[in-house]
Amino acid sequence: MEPLVEVKNLNVEFDVRDGIVHAVDGVSFTVHRGRTLGVIGESGCGKSITAKTIMQMVPKPGEITSGEVLFHYRDKYDPEGDIEVINITNLDPDGRRIRKIRGGEIGMIFQEPMSSLTPVYTSGTLIGEALHLHRLVPKTVGEEMAQNIKEYRHVTDEEAREISIEMLRKVGIPKPEQRVDSYAHQLSGGQRQRVMIAIALSCRPAMLIADEPTTALDVSIEAQILDLMADLQETVDMAIMFITHDLGVIAEVADEIVVMYMGKQVETADATELYYNPLHPYTRALLKSIPQIGKRSTQRLASIKGMVPDPFNLPSGCVFHPRCPEYMPGKCDRIVPKWTEVEEGHYARCLLYEEV
Ligand code: SF4
Repeated sequence: MEPLVEVKNLNVEFDVRDGIVHAVDGVSFTVHRGRTLGVIGESGCGKSITAKTIMQMVPKPGEITSGEVLFHYRDKYDPEGDIEVINITNLDPDGRRIRKIRGGEIGMIFQEPMSSLTPVYTSGTLIGEALHLHRLVPKTVGEEMAQNIKEYRHVTDEEAREISIEMLRKVGIPKPEQRVDSYAHQLSGGQRQRVMIAIALSCRPAMLIADEPTTALDVSIEAQILDLMADLQETVDMAIMFITHDLGVIAEVADEIVVMYMGKQVETADATELYYNPLHPYTRALLKSIPQIGKRSTQRLASIKGMVPDPFNLPSGCVFHPRCPEYMPGKCDRIVPKWTEVEEGHYARCLLYEEV
């Protein structure tokens, strides 16, 4: 497995009027080329901020206080070229380098397609803008790939329109020749989401960050989008970072899973291992709370007791202790658990697995 993005001990803080919020607290993981990393956790646990940090898009007053995001860059138009390791956290968020990576090398599908698509541009213009900025085509007409970087050129307006129609067709939008001239308000929720996916994928990024990409969609459209992402992943060896709170969806798509709670990474393992052998009490509770077909309708759905704590007033010791079914008094409320490799490649942050 070839690493593409390595996140190392990342910390992001928000200094607001009521105090400092540690939105991302010591998170580390690796996304590999051609593989899917699932990131799960309740709302507000730091999943989206982690993703935005990878794109150098942390909203103000957020700040990366420590840690690294290493991007193993290889020019997709020069596959024989060397890999350059770029520390994204050192780049100017408005600089040329990150603008080339953002969209061109790492595409992102945001949670809310209605507010993420500019209402005054048609879907064709939005896809075309990304293509003009990030996509090259071989100088020889009709070729899919060229021999080296000098044999490529930028796309023309006509080509951008053709590629936009083709992308809309690929994401399953009916009558793409007409929809290419549609504005966001003329599209349904599912179509808007697919336009977002078309924009993100049109430049053939090395990695796609999909932040709750199917939350607003009904299950049939959701299944279509998941199939489409899997097809494109196979075709262009793209890595995917899939962020969701839906454990059913993540079971279908992920190779590896990161579980987050209150900005901290509490468990990481191979997806099958995590589903069959969850170690952290929070992961176990999340898995128990998935509704199951065949259960009697009168049976209560399992839930995690209590509420997510106030980020300005976090519990002492393990932050999950007030809600944990395996809470050990005098221990869990006093000692901060360490990140521990419990089994090979299976990590957890819990005192049950530490010799204290
Ligand atoms: Fe539960 Fe204690 Fe483990 Fe925290 S450290 S998850 S409170 S058992």
